[in-house]
Amino acid sequence: MSLRPVPAAGLLLTVTGRCPLRCAHCSTASTLASAETDAGLLQRFVGSFTEDARPAVLMLTGGEPLLRPGTVAALATRARAAGTRSALLTGAFFAARATGSATWRPPRAVARAVTAVDHFSVSVDAFHEREVPRAAAFAAVRYALDAGIASSLHLVGNGPDDPYLEDVTADARRTFGDRVPMLVNTVRPVGRAASWAAAKTQARPGPRGVLPCAMAAWPVVAGDGTVLACCNQDVVDRRPVPEHLRVGHIAQDDWAAVRGRVRSAPVLRMIRAVGPLHLRERFGTSAEDTGPRPGYCAGCRALAEHPEVLAATGRAGAGAAGALLDLHATRRQVEAGPVEFVRRHGSAAHAQLVALPGTPK
Ligand code: SF4
Ligand code: SF4
Repeated sequence: MSLRPVPAAGLLLTVTGRCPLRCAHCSTASTLASAETDAGLLQRFVGSFTEDARPAVLMLTGGEPLLRPGTVAALATRARAAGTRSALLTGAFFAARATGSATWRPPRAVARAVTAVDHFSVSVDAFHEREVPRAAAFAAVRYALDAGIASSLHLVGNGPDDPYLEDVTADARRTFGDRVPMLVNTVRPVGRAASWAAAKTQARPGPRGVLPCAMAAWPVVAGDGTVLACCNQDVVDRRPVPEHLRVGHIAQDDWAAVRGRVRSAPVLRMIRAVGPLHLRERFGTSAEDTGPRPGYCAGCRALAEHPEVLAATGRAGAGAAGALLDLHATRRQVEAGPVEFVRRHGSAAHAQLVALPGTPK
């Protein structure tokens, strides 16, 4: 979370669009018939990381990445060779029948994948618990901790006052003490990849709609190999992608090329520095801009229909001035720290749980 506002410090990678579970809140509507990401292209793309050109963090997500445990282990190993740390987010389908006993072990291939990554996270919420009991999800976390892998929980409630969140966070503290940090979000119409750090912002815009979007910092590899500028689920799922939010494709690009676009595209710099609302406010000239405004992310996607706004944004974000503005916005968010970041983007009431000491590897 400390690195989440830093452009290209992380990469979210969809290992597969498939999932054996059927959680009612699954915005990706993942099933076992969903699309598979080309494993060869994933390996090639992660293989393009070098010591000098690599993300600090590789987030392996889905669907359910542990449907492809061999691919997870191979990607984590390749990433580590370049100096990138990996993290895995799972719904723990493989633990559904775990009793919670100290002797429970995941299937061998899954165990290899879990111990290949640097960080292991399990999603737990009321919807998941209908598919995988909480005790079983906790058994998966306990296995990872006992194997020496730093672990965390990704929790979701209906709102910050949802009693479920009090119950599950207290249960996790009783079970794991301070060893398992928790990222707590509230249900919203965005998808699973986004749950690494929500694409929703709870802060209010400042004067003239200034509200930076930190989500435009880490690119996302979608199931079809397209690389998007952010984890907003509509951006990840809908085609065609608005051109200003597309930063490549793993069939044609390597990490250095994607990183270069994320860092230097003038429109992305401006989205990160002041947010899409301000860009419409400042540069919108067409008659429709005097009408009702769309929401934050809908307004960002709709910039594609406003070439005059994109052109002016491109000019403002180009060159040394644009780079400096971007750097300043990033620094402010990094200095505010991970708890403040989660307070803004997740459940503010539970933000401090992200900073529990955990078990660094
Ligand atoms: S929410 Fe996650 S675990 Fe549940 S069905 Fe969707 S992808 Fe699978
Ligand atoms: S504001 Fe734009 S870049 Fe940011 S999350 Fe929303 S759609 Fe993505």
